[in-house]
Amino acid sequence: MSARPPGSDLEYSVETMLAHHGRVPDEQFGFVNTPVYRGSTILFKTLDDLESQQQRFLYGRAGNPTTAQVETVVTQLESAHRTLLAPSGLSAVTIAILSCLDTGDEILITDSAYEPTRNFAEGFLKRMGIGARYYDPRIGASIAELITDNTKAVFVESPGSGTFEVQDLPAIAQAAHARGAKVIVDNSWASPLFYRPLMLGADIVVHAGTKMFVGHSDAFAGTVSSVESAWAAIDKTRRLLGFFTSGDEAFLVARGLRTLAIRMAEHQRRALDIARWLEGQSEVERVLHPALESHPDHAVWKRDFTGSGSLFSVLLKPAPRASLAAFLDHLELFSMGFSWGGYESLCVPVKPERTRTAVAWAQEGNLIRLHIGLEGIEDLKADLANALKRYAAAR
Ligand SMILES: *Cc1c(COP(=O)(O)O)cnc(C)c1O
Repeated sequence: MSARPPGSDLEYSVETMLAHHGRVPDEQFGFVNTPVYRGSTILFKTLDDLESQQQRFLYGRAGNPTTAQVETVVTQLESAHRTLLAPSGLSAVTIAILSCLDTGDEILITDSAYEPTRNFAEGFLKRMGIGARYYDPRIGASIAELITDNTKAVFVESPGSGTFEVQDLPAIAQAAHARGAKVIVDNSWASPLFYRPLMLGADIVVHAGTKMFVGHSDAFAGTVSSVESAWAAIDKTRRLLGFFTSGDEAFLVARGLRTLAIRMAEHQRRALDIARWLEGQSEVERVLHPALESHPDHAVWKRDFTGSGSLFSVLLKPAPRASLAAFLDHLELFSMGFSWGGYESLCVPVKPERTRTAVAWAQEGNLIRLHIGLEGIEDLKADLANALKRYAAAR
């Protein structure tokens, strides 16, 4: 990972950039870190200054040195034109989507998308007269058949939250661009260290910064990065909607980013080790992790990604709810809860059959999503081994 990312014009390796980004000690009395800037009002000295709007910062809602520091580093990581820091991952998703669509337009969304992304389309876009249809995440170039004159955006999440289908982004981007539609990618799983959607044809990339960027389950943030042609509409959408991210949250993102490379490497190693081990357990039907050779999209993952994340799912053999409860209720190290990306391991049951509309989820069994944290691998395996025993006993 010490190499520069493919297609990047970074002067240094990613680790060096993460360690040094945004540090301007000369402007901070020599302090090594950019401090938390809080503030709404930013002062102008003269009427000329106020009217020319040439100052770097004009009003706190549009950013401050702490938020700008994060935006700069994510821009570099994604080889983007610009980035904005949003107050949550979901707000990053909604800003990106709204920047592409007007009343009468339509968006195509992967059937595997994070559920709140889908809820936004159903509960908000449709009310605004914007259509949303869902497509098979494995559709690839055939997405061309779904694109109409009204399709202005295609939303990709690769791999999908919960079910981990890997999408053929270059093929989707080619089909979308042939009809003038923009491609938005939710890149939260891989982080820009392991997947660089703008280099594969996407126009906009969003992150739930809450997850891997923050890395400690203690702050909310999102980012929207784009190529130049998509940027003006994104910036305008954020300004009109009035989204604001505080310097306090930005500071925690900047701090998390310092260790992103080393954490991603460790999460990757641990998650893959545990995924392989789970494949050999008798209660396990399938492990849904794109870096496993058994995964149906392994070849696409291998072609387009340079690593894998902390998150994957395991499909347990069919068993009643009591077995699932027996598995989940008495874990010692894995905790049950939403979100992921922190130092601590998490698990949550997933029910794709409740939301899917493009392709029915036909897999029998209990699906559990795991986030592998930074605990000792053998401790985590022992916790899961006990859970699998309880699952089998209640089956
Ligand atoms: C968590 C998540 C989001 C939303 O992020 P929040 O910060 O919780 O709003 C978006 N996409 C994916 C893939 C996520 O896992």
